[in-house]
Amino acid sequence: MSERNLAPGKGVRAWPAPVRYRANPVTDNPNSSSGEVALVGAGPGDPELLTLKAWRLIQSAEVVLYDRLVSPEIMALIPETAELIHVGKQRSNHTLPQDQINARLVELAQQGRRVVRLKGGDPFIFGRGGEEIETLAEAGVRFQVVPGITAASGCAAYAGIPLTHRDHAQSVRFVTGHLKDDTCNLPWKDFVQNNQTLVFYMGLVGLPIICRELSAHGMDSGMPVALVSKGTTPDQEVITGDLSNIVQRVSERQVHPPTLVIIGHVVSLRERLDWVGAVTPPA
Ligand code: SAH
Repeated sequence: MSERNLAPGKGVRAWPAPVRYRANPVTDNPNSSSGEVALVGAGPGDPELLTLKAWRLIQSAEVVLYDRLVSPEIMALIPETAELIHVGKQRSNHTLPQDQINARLVELAQQGRRVVRLKGGDPFIFGRGGEEIETLAEAGVRFQVVPGITAASGCAAYAGIPLTHRDHAQSVRFVTGHLKDDTCNLPWKDFVQNNQTLVFYMGLVGLPIICRELSAHGMDSGMPVALVSKGTTPDQEVITGDLSNIVQRVSERQVHPPTLVIIGHVVSLRERLDWVGAVTPPA
């Protein structure tokens, strides 16, 4: 007999009545004949990290605009009937400039189509999602936003690095490491506070500057650092070291983008908590 059928009794928890999964009436468009855009976070790579809502909207999309961070496994979930438009950005190689992406979204929705704008991670974290929906709002196009698992959460979980921990870090900062013209125009002093974890997105190219500036502002040179490449995918790789040697260690390896840099005492927990490396893949 399944636990669900057991009558509540001593030591047996009453199971709540099953709830059917339904579209959310607050975010769903009752007038499906007018076009709309769903700005959807696809998470960091593992397709099983998609939300149910992301999956449902992808299944009913007529057009999907995607960028290079969306993993091939997630692309494979898009129905063949949907038109695919690659607008994907690469460092210094923007396939479509941002204003053209914004204009394209408006145009497609005004044609009455159900559009999914699929973005890696979470659309509101270093994803320029805000800019895209600002244009939609101005044009009076209906839209909704579906959060995704951001790279920091996905990579940290799959690398066995809890971003906060009562003994090590009471706060976490997400920082862009995309330093314009190699300038160090970031509040470095704030970054060297105790008991804080730093997560640098787009930090590979700027890694030497990041390490140099953190040291110069007083961070201990033994502070643990991890670089996670292709986090949550079968090709995930993690390089660990400390502030003084991570640049050297990374330069000795061929590192594949995208990469995320995690800095803080929590990184040392990986030695005990790396569950992905500990799991033997099925034969
Ligand atoms: N909106 C995205 C971030 C876009 S910025 C999100 O919420 O995750 C792009 C940066 O995200 C990359 O340069 C890299 O730093 C990080 N990133 C995205 N996916 C990643 C992955 N699977 N592994 C490691 N870093 C990743």
